[in-house]
Amino acid sequence: MSFIIAIDGPAAAGKGTLAKRVAAHYAYAYLDTGSLYRAVGVAVTAQGLPASDEPAAVRAAQSLDATKIAAKAIRTAEAGEAASVVAVMPAVRAAILQFQRDFATNPPNGAKGAVLDGRDIGTVVCPEADVKIFVTASAEIRANRRFLELKTSGSAISEAQVLEDTQERDRRDAERALSPMRPAEDAHLLDTSNLSIEAAFGEAVRIIDKSMR
Ligand code: C5P
Repeated sequence: MSFIIAIDGPAAAGKGTLAKRVAAHYAYAYLDTGSLYRAVGVAVTAQGLPASDEPAAVRAAQSLDATKIAAKAIRTAEAGEAASVVAVMPAVRAAILQFQRDFATNPPNGAKGAVLDGRDIGTVVCPEADVKIFVTASAEIRANRRFLELKTSGSAISEAQVLEDTQERDRRDAERALSPMRPAEDAHLLDTSNLSIEAAFGEAVRIIDKSMR
């Protein structure tokens, strides 16, 4: 039986960094589920089509090879935007669902557990997860973190624009009909607004260790 850790939360709350560290700490497999939606969004826009082109997005989701996602192309602000547009489409979510479940229950390389981060891991993908953590932080703090990240990677986007995009993405993710972003009833809330990465990691490990006993 794989030990499943679900880490959900809004854009730039620190889930990715946290989930990666948690996975390394327990020697579990890690899946960034946002990268799947990003890859689908980019596959559509790279054809010169709008991300809202549903048939193109569904085709891209159904033929997605998770082992061949180009890390650099999907980390841009545009890719995040495109991801949240294709993520509202039921057929896109359905195509990606089984892959995520298989990863969680049967993690690669013989790992004894899996850490998945996303928006709906605790509610829809793995409602039976052993531990669920919902990571939050204020929109301003999240936008500032994402802004610094984008700046480092050479983007000229302004902080005000990043805040606006973040709020728009939150709205789309929380208000969609299917698998909206929300904490599962049994999720532990972890607000990282005033926590360093180190402190957030310590808190997550405390929560996880407790549920392993
Ligand atoms: O976490 P990340 O910013 O990479 O996610 C990009 C987008 O993919 C999110 O804004 C959301 O719309 C979508 N997503 C989702 N369900 C997940 C993970 C990501 O709908 N489990």
